[in-house]
Amino acid sequence: MKEFDYVIIGGGCAGLSLAYELETHEKLKNKTLAIIETRPDYKRDKTWSFWKVAPHNFDDCVKKSWENFSINIPNKTNHIECKDYPYQSIDSGLFYEKINNKLKENRNISFFKNIEEINTKNSFIFSSVPIIKKNHLNLWQHFCGVEIETKNNCFDEQIFNLMDFDCEQRDSVHFFYTLPFSKNKALVETTWLSKMNDNSQKDYDQQIKDYIKNHLKIKDYEIIYKEEGAIPLFYPLYKKEKNKINIGTAGGMTRLSTGYTFLNIQEHSKYIRENIENISNSKRFEISKKYQFLDDIFLRVLNKHPKKMSNIFFNMFRTSPKTVIKFLSNKSNFFEDLKIILKMPKWTFIKALFY
Ligand SMILES: Cc1cc2nc3c(=O)[nH]c(=O)nc-3n(C[C@H](O)[C@H](O)[C@H](O)COP(=O)(O)OP(=O)(O)OC[C@H]3O[C@@H](n4cnc5c(N)ncnc54)[C@H](O)[C@@H]3O)c2cc1C
Repeated sequence: MKEFDYVIIGGGCAGLSLAYELETHEKLKNKTLAIIETRPDYKRDKTWSFWKVAPHNFDDCVKKSWENFSINIPNKTNHIECKDYPYQSIDSGLFYEKINNKLKENRNISFFKNIEEINTKNSFIFSSVPIIKKNHLNLWQHFCGVEIETKNNCFDEQIFNLMDFDCEQRDSVHFFYTLPFSKNKALVETTWLSKMNDNSQKDYDQQIKDYIKNHLKIKDYEIIYKEEGAIPLFYPLYKKEKNKINIGTAGGMTRLSTGYTFLNIQEHSKYIRENIENISNSKRFEISKKYQFLDDIFLRVLNKHPKKMSNIFFNMFRTSPKTVIKFLSNKSNFFEDLKIILKMPKWTFIKALFY
């Protein structure tokens, strides 16, 4: 059986981002790489969005970028400018195509469907397949979104809606998210933060249909794309092994309070590329302990007081946009953290330390 210097298990966002980073920095000229991916073919299946707080390799896969967004709770709307850190949406279809075209050029890179097809005994492994133990207490961000095309021009494509809490909460945290790609095309998503044990939350199609009709007031439209997912708001199991590193969601790259993962994956890929020659002795790359601690408290509050969360999110965005975006994107300094913390209901958060 064939052997490879490096093996990437899972050719999704993290696996392909890492392969691209290694390839474009000529780290695979004299090394071999096997990518193990089970999917039959690559097609658009996700829309990765984030505030661009750091450079990345995929500006040419950006479907749309915004400098303004809104967040609302019943009867209150906050309009926020984000010129310094525009919000970008990446089309996964373009991302897969760009990377796969690049990787095909190097004969040192091979694709397999099953790890049993190769000998991994002497390889360094990067795994993006998470090990998730079922636990009914775990929180998830679960959602479904549709891209619709309308007959008439219905959207203001200059501003997207990050969170619309003016909807049924069902003893949980629920909001809609709308990304207008043009005047007549938008991604409309229903998102829940919950333990996923209430099946009534999963009637996503009906929720979206009602929202489009009653809130967006759109009657004439066609669904041209659909995506669905569940992001764990906890860290998957991570077994320390000498010749293996977990990447992506499996590697703890999700910011647990928000679900944002894409840019962390890019930073992790860069870190691995910079240390690839001595990767088995390099320090583990993680989201800083400060954010792990703050997110843990945040999620305890969310678990205990789901009804308070819409106000908490809304108030968080009443600090300067730069501060809140930096905080949510792991780039804030001590004073910025403090500004955010001061916007939180103090006793609720202090009590959460002892739950
Ligand atoms: C629909 C959706 C939308 C999201 N939107 C955002 C967003 O807007 N912003 C953001 O920051 N994050 C977002 N996320 C979170 C996160 O960025 C993505 O989940 C991202 O794809 C994680 O990358 P990954 O490589 O860890 O996982 P994936 O991209 O899922 O890649 C894992 C790969 O492993 C393959 N695989 C599975 N089992 C095996 C196996 N046994 N052997 C080999 N291969 C296997 C899968 O087919 C898949 O291709 C979203 C997640 C989802 C699901």
